[in-house]
Amino acid sequence: MSVETRAHTALHVVKGAIVKVLGDEAKWSAGASVDGSHGRITVQFDRKPTDDEVRMIERLANEKIREDQPIEIHMLSRVDAEARWGALIYDLFPLPEHITELQVFHLPGWNVNACNKEHTSSTGDVGELLITKTRFRNKKQLLEVSFDLVE
Ligand SMILES: [Zn+2]
Repeated sequence: MSVETRAHTALHVVKGAIVKVLGDEAKWSAGASVDGSHGRITVQFDRKPTDDEVRMIERLANEKIREDQPIEIHMLSRVDAEARWGALIYDLFPLPEHITELQVFHLPGWNVNACNKEHTSSTGDVGELLITKTRFRNKKQLLEVSFDLVE
């Protein structure tokens, strides 16, 4: 599978780790991008994380990868998806109203998100990752977490 697929899947794994460490306050994603083996996830948050917190996010993400947990991909109606998971499936920029069928990425106990991209079948395929940079933008109350897959 492509490195972009692995890096994209890593976004979900890192996002789950961010919420585990920083709490529900960090549950809204404001953006995500992948470029080769590099990824960046941006979440709404109200402060700069400590170095210990950043190391913990990296550690939990890599533990989840080593666990090799199967990834569930669900195709279902938007109504059913909202009934099952609520607003958690959405990011800060909601999907247009006309979209009535969703693909939902679900890593039980870790991350759930409406996402129509391609993913690995389990977390182990992501491989190890390193968090390379974090940036807190106080005015916008946004936290960017950048990582690289270790090749
Ligand atoms: Zn995805």
